[in-house]
Amino acid sequence: MPRRKKKDPFICPSCGTRVNEPVKTWTIVSPIPDKYGRITVTIMGSFQCPNCGAKWKDSIKKIKTGGDEEAMREGEEKKEEGTIIEIDLSDLDEIEL
Ligand SMILES: [Zn+2]
Repeated sequence: MPRRKKKDPFICPSCGTRVNEPVKTWTIVSPIPDKYGRITVTIMGSFQCPNCGAKWKDSIKKIKTGGDEEAMREGEEKKEEGTIIEIDLSDLDEIEL
């Protein structure tokens, strides 16, 4: 079953304003491959609303890498890659699960 959550991480959870870009982004690499042998890389962002000042963090995108191609096909969403991603490993400290 394809689960597809249409939640937009760029929308302020408080007032609904859409921010243009995250204040900061970082990635989380899953240490354990999934059943297809793929590694999941999650791109996280921290946001601040220009309207009400609310701050939040959310996952912007998940990318699966490696594994067999058959399995990759179900992950075809990774077409739209327009966002500029800055990777800063020092941000890993900020992860709150
Ligand atoms: Zn807001």
